[in-house]
Amino acid sequence: MTQIVPIRHLFGPGPCNPYPEATAALALPLLGHLDPAFIARMDRTAAGLRTLWGTENSRTLPLSATGSAGMEAAFVNTVKAGDVAVIAVNGLFGERMCEVASRAGAEVVRVDHEYGTPVDAQRVADAHPNPTVIAAVHAETSTGVLSDMAALGAIKGDALLIMDAVTSIGGMPVLADEWGVDVAYAGTQKCLGVAPGLAPFTISDRAFERRVQKPQSWYLDLGLLGGYTTGGSGGGRTYHHTAPVGMVASLEAGINRILAEGLDNVTARHQAAGQALQDGLVEMGLTLFAEEGYRLPQLTTVNVPEGVDSAKVRAYLLERFNIEIGGGVGKNANTVWRIGLMGPNANPNSVALILAGLKEAIAKA
Ligand SMILES: *Cc1c(COP(=O)(O)O)cnc(C)c1O
Repeated sequence: MTQIVPIRHLFGPGPCNPYPEATAALALPLLGHLDPAFIARMDRTAAGLRTLWGTENSRTLPLSATGSAGMEAAFVNTVKAGDVAVIAVNGLFGERMCEVASRAGAEVVRVDHEYGTPVDAQRVADAHPNPTVIAAVHAETSTGVLSDMAALGAIKGDALLIMDAVTSIGGMPVLADEWGVDVAYAGTQKCLGVAPGLAPFTISDRAFERRVQKPQSWYLDLGLLGGYTTGGSGGGRTYHHTAPVGMVASLEAGINRILAEGLDNVTARHQAAGQALQDGLVEMGLTLFAEEGYRLPQLTTVNVPEGVDSAKVRAYLLERFNIEIGGGVGKNANTVWRIGLMGPNANPNSVALILAGLKEAIAKA
């Protein structure tokens, strides 16, 4: 029997509601993964991604899995046993980078920051004299904090700089080349406004030349993927794995939607929505978790008021208003809510809906 799927307002840390263009593209006729029409689509998608990343990197592609696969690909292709990975940790995703890098054999040097605060580039620089890679999360979705990647690019020395841009891409400026980023990855379901399923990825020539030969992951081996996604100068693509052709069509449509609106306009829209939400929450008497001056507009962290049951409020919002918001992570699991205004959800209607819903939920849940 057909189940009726509820229509939710996805105001959590991702996925967000996709752009209608991205959803519509999922209904396009399916192409084979080596069809010239699909390869042309892949090339257009890569070109769009270069614009969003702020890079000229020829090796720019959507990996066939979610953002976490981008993280995995970044580390397995750049570090092996004995290499040093200096990792800035100011939230869950920095923690996860440490786990992934250590499984790839790296000696991990953690630079821990208090949750809610940004990465301190000087502390990262002082952590080790000669690391193989330095890695940080640009927009920490677990805490709602923005960090300065250009400051890390300035201190990286001979190391490769790895950037997690899962939550920043499509919502705020990302300038990989200008900031000195060598490897970056993202996901489709945050500010790109596409369903989850792909990990946009980019790697500089310098990083590619230094890559690990025969990394532990066959699937995410960038050396093997190169022949399939870029095909070299002759354009001849070889089979590596079956690309998720439907998802690539959706990603292309999402990127086109963003570029048609204009990157500056998209950034301004996320900024305005986030600011209005944060102002409204403070007006309600709530306090924000992330340090002032470093707050992400697309992902707001707000402290759960004393005596209020975090989970009950979230359940009330879902049942009464079809609104999904997120809880906190780690030790903040029950003391922080995470509210995302990403992709098409970054608009004044969403802000009004969340503020009204949350007010009622806190009073009644
Ligand atoms: C969501 C997220 C990830 C993981 O992406 P998945 O698509 O869930 O695998 C990694 N880093 C950050 C900053 C994220 O927000």
